[in-house]
Amino acid sequence: MEKSENKKRNIILIAAILILILLSFGLTAYMRNSSKHKEPSETTSGASGSAETESTEASEKELQVVVQYVDREIFKAPLSKDALYMIKDGVVSEVPEGTTLESMGDEALETKHHINLMQVKDNSVSVIESNCSNQICVSIGKMTDTDYDFPITCLPHGLIIVIQ
Ligand SMILES: [Zn+2]
Repeated sequence: MEKSENKKRNIILIAAILILILLSFGLTAYMRNSSKHKEPSETTSGASGSAETESTEASEKELQVVVQYVDREIFKAPLSKDALYMIKDGVVSEVPEGTTLESMGDEALETKHHINLMQVKDNSVSVIESNCSNQICVSIGKMTDTDYDFPITCLPHGLIIVIQ
């Protein structure tokens, strides 16, 4: 009699430990998920208490254009923000609309700098000009908010542009 009660206690203990392990897994997964989208546009941060239960709603986050250079992320901006960006030797900067490789003159020589012009417009992103050797990044065309499975890559310049 005593033995079977001990057994029962052990089973309960094991079950409790399993639940704890599952909970900690769930928590780290949740934290990893929520750290991915800590955008300034988050409006729920002010609401107290109910924030944790809204994790499913938070998955409908705003899409971001992300530029990776070699092995690191160098740039992130909302896909909804129309702008022209110059990616020059791994540094991204916003440039005036109408900027072209030609308008940059000697600075745009491939022997001097690696330059890609990235246009974000109407919830799409594309590389409109590049001084790379194969022009694949330009010919890939647009990624849009509904079609972004295939990233824009510029291997000669070590760039990968994704929407996430
Ligand atoms: Zn290219």
